[in-house]
Amino acid sequence: MAGEPQADCLFCKIVAGEVPATIVRETETTVAFRDISPQAPTHVLVIPKVHYANAGELAAAEPRIAGEVLSEAAAVAADEKVDATGYRIIFNTGPGAGQTVFHAHAHVLGGRDLQRLV
Ligand code: C5P
Repeated sequence: MAGEPQADCLFCKIVAGEVPATIVRETETTVAFRDISPQAPTHVLVIPKVHYANAGELAAAEPRIAGEVLSEAAAVAADEKVDATGYRIIFNTGPGAGQTVFHAHAHVLGGRDLQRLV
């Protein structure tokens, strides 16, 4: 069923505590943990506990939780003190955009000069 945990999903396993992760924040609906392969001094992933393949599908099905992912991303930036200097929130969507884990997630990147992308 939509939103239910998927047996073969790495991030569902992190939510369930079956795969270790360095969790920095958790709410009723979201988990934030450090990316295992950090691309910046701050590189944290914020995921919904419910399973949707990407941010668009999450927003369509659960707009309140999609909003909470965003507010948690901002809270991570504040916790990490990168909010004053600037940070980036990225939702890779689809293999052509570099998405490799098909459970919606926001990358929060900061702590270094981030080249302008668009
Ligand atoms: O946007 P994309 O799907 O490529 O992002 C997946 C991210 O999950 C990668 O940045 C990867 O380093 C991270 N990852 C992780 N912990 C794992 C497996 C992947 O933080 N156990």
